[in-house]
This record gives sequence, structure tokens and C-alpha cells, in this order.
Amino acid sequence: MSIADVISFDNTEVAFKSKSDKELKRDYRLFKLLSYPWLARTGAKMTAVLLKAGLPVAGIIRKTIYEHFCGGETLAECQKTIDELAASGVYSILDYGVEAKNNEADFDHTAAEMIREIDFASENDFVPLISCKMTGLGRFELYEKVQQGDRLTAEEEKEFNRIRERLEKVCRHASENNVSVSIDAEESWIQEPVDKLTHEMMEKFNRGRVVVMNTAQMYRKDRLDFLKDAVAEALRKGYLYGIKLVRGAYMDKERARARAMKYPSPIHETKSECDHDFDEAVRFCIDHYEKVYTCVATHNEASCKLFVNLIEDKKLDKQHPHLLCCQLYGMSDHITFNLAERGFRAAKYVPYGPVREVLPYLTRRAEENTSVAGQMSRELQLYKTEMTRRGL
Ligand SMILES: Cc1cc2nc3c(=O)[nH]c(=O)nc-3n(C[C@H](O)[C@H](O)[C@H](O)COP(=O)(O)OP(=O)(O)OC[C@H]3O[C@@H](n4cnc5c(N)ncnc54)[C@H](O)[C@@H]3O)c2cc1C
Repeated sequence: MSIADVISFDNTEVAFKSKSDKELKRDYRLFKLLSYPWLARTGAKMTAVLLKAGLPVAGIIRKTIYEHFCGGETLAECQKTIDELAASGVYSILDYGVEAKNNEADFDHTAAEMIREIDFASENDFVPLISCKMTGLGRFELYEKVQQGDRLTAEEEKEFNRIRERLEKVCRHASENNVSVSIDAEESWIQEPVDKLTHEMMEKFNRGRVVVMNTAQMYRKDRLDFLKDAVAEALRKGYLYGIKLVRGAYMDKERARARAMKYPSPIHETKSECDHDFDEAVRFCIDHYEKVYTCVATHNEASCKLFVNLIEDKKLDKQHPHLLCCQLYGMSDHITFNLAERGFRAAKYVPYGPVREVLPYLTRRAEENTSVAGQMSRELQLYKTEMTRRGL
């Protein structure tokens, strides 16, 4: 049996079951608009300017792109989205979408919000995980300095300890409340301290179950070896490993910095090398599924089919808690809902937060959903197929 035979992602009836005709047409119009690269780019920039100027555009954004890609402004507002996804057997991973903060009060506020997220998740059977960005808990420049190996001042040492304390508080609370925390990967020049802190927390909390998960960006040339070494170390030290596999979101920025600073780019030269490493990582993790919790986080159909195929091939329990496939809310419903329909553990990353705060996230979604970025034509085609099927 070929990979393609195991599951088809073409069933649009399953993919869009939860959308009314009106919602389907509205979302089709949104994706159609986003398919114009110039509109997606200038629209996002203009919105930021208009919001800054205090013009009342938040309402328009909220009713359009925000509602499509975000769960709500608050945890309570996310409940409806979580329930709708759960009705189709789809899990939610909450993601407080506030980015790039730089003062201690904001970092404390983000940590407190994560504690609230954990309490909220512990009361929702369909929210097994929350996500955490380390730049929400500490200053980017400080991580950078730690990675460079520069000597920290006494003040900076204290500041770094406060980051560790915030993270530990969040992980401990998750551990006590049967929730897991997935730590995002960001720019390669801050990733070393992020990996180190994450592994520290894993060693502390991943004893009976996986409480803490790291993220590996497989567009990086060194991540397959990194992953294998990290799992070997976890096995040696007797703790469970948790990993979210992604391709990576900062390719242009990574390459530009490497060029400007004249060091070899850490990113694969070609997409096929990146795809190769991603799929190798999926194989490696599933081979070790008893000790490694894997979240295959991608919109790539071939990688999702590989995940399914390996589970079927090895006759694993599709509902094993260490096997999860995840897409972003508002994208690739054809993958998520068809996976869930066939009994696999599938999830959506559900960002939430004030409209103004999640704007950088929305800008990235707008840009990656243009026809140039490629995701778009597939989404549009699926919406069209379903509209035709319903005779709309
Ligand atoms: C649930 C979820 C969580 C995520 N969390 C994170 C996170 O924590 N950190 C993060 O960085 N990203 C994260 N992402 C984004 C992710 O890294 C990708 O940018 C995005 O998902 C697109 O990749 P893909 O596998 O879905 O699709 P594809 O369309 O198959 O892959 C596109 C990706 O391939 C890579 N690529 C494209 N061209 C080349 C090339 N010429 N050479 C080398 N590589 C190339 C790039 O990474 C690009 O984003 C997350 C995505 C999801 C779905």
C-alpha cells in the first residue's frame, strides 16, 4: 500500500463540516483577497500604521482575518473555538500570541497568563498543551548575549535567573495540572540558551509523562544530529523527550543575517534538503515513540501522510498520547479534520490575545498565504471544491 492510499486529504466535506454555507463563502473571499501578494503585504503594513495612529480599524480586522486565524481576545472567548474543534475530535494548543516584549513587567504578565492558560487547559479535555515563546519570558538581547558566551553583569545574571524562575513556575504548574508546555523555536542566534533551559525543565519534569516539549526547526542543517543527541541524552539520564517538529519560520531573516555577518548560513540550501531532514526526524521520533512525544507541526501533506503511514505500518495505537499532528488554526483544515476523522490525534495551534498584539502573527499568516508563498492555491482550490459540492 502506498502512502497516498492510507489517507486522502481531499475530502472537503469532512474538512469543512463545521462551516455553514455563509462561513464557507466568507472564508473563501478572505483567502481570495490574501492570494494577492501586494494586498497581503501592503494591507498588513497599512493596518499597523492605522492602528498606531489610533484609527478604528481593529473592528474590521477582528471581523475578518483575526476571526479566521485566532481563537479570541481572551481565554473565555476561545472556548467556542475549542468546543467546535473538539466536536470533530480535534485538540487545541493554546498560544498566547503576544510577541517581542522587553520589560520585566511584561514578562511577568506573560508568565501569569500562561498559568491562567494551564488552569483553563486543565478543565478542557481537548486542550492537552499550551505553547510558550521564550522571548515572551525574557529579553531577546540577553539570550543573544548568553549564546555569544559574553560575560554577564551581576544584574544580567539576576535577570537570566528570573527567566529560569518564570519558566520553572510555568512548567511546575503544568506538571501539577496534567497539562504540557511546548516551547517554540525562534532565531538560531538565541536558540542555544532556549534549548538549554528547555532541556533543564525536561530533566526536572518529564519523569512519568512529557510535561515539557522543545521545537526543532528542520530547515537548519544541524537539527537532525541535535535531535538524535538530545534524545540519546534524555534516555541516558532517564527522562522522556518531547519535540515539536517544524520546518522553520525565519528562513529569509536567517540567511540575510548570515550574509551580512559573513558566516555560513545555518539553513539548508534547498527545500528538498529541508524536506529530507524533516521526514527523517519524523521517522526517528516515531521509531522512539515510547520515550519521545512527537508533535508533527506542518501543513505539508507528504509529511503528514508519512506520519500516518508510519503509524499504520508499525501498527501503533493511533491514539497513543505521544503521537500528534498539528496545523495552525484557520489553515489546512483538510489535513487536520481528515486526520481526526480517521482516528489520529490531530490538533490546531489556536493563537489568542488582543487584536493589536497579535498583529505580527497575522502579518506572517497573510504573507505566507499569498499565491507566491504557495499555500494559497491549495486552500483556494479546496474551498472552491467544497462550494461546488454544496452547489453554492
Ligand atoms: C503548529 C505549528 C507550530 C509552529 N511552530 C513554529 C515554531 O515554534 N518555530 C518556527 O520557526 N516555526 C514554527 N512553525 C512554522 C513552520 O516552521 C513553517 O514555517 C510553516 O509551517 C511552513 O512549513 P510547512 O512544513 O508547513 O510547509 P512547506 O510548505 O512544506 O514548507 C515551507 C517551509 O520550508 C522551508 N523552506 C522553504 N524553501 C526552502 C529552501 N529553499 N531551503 C530550505 N528550506 C526551505 C521553510 O522553513 C518554509 O517555511 C509552526 C507551524 C505549525 C503548523
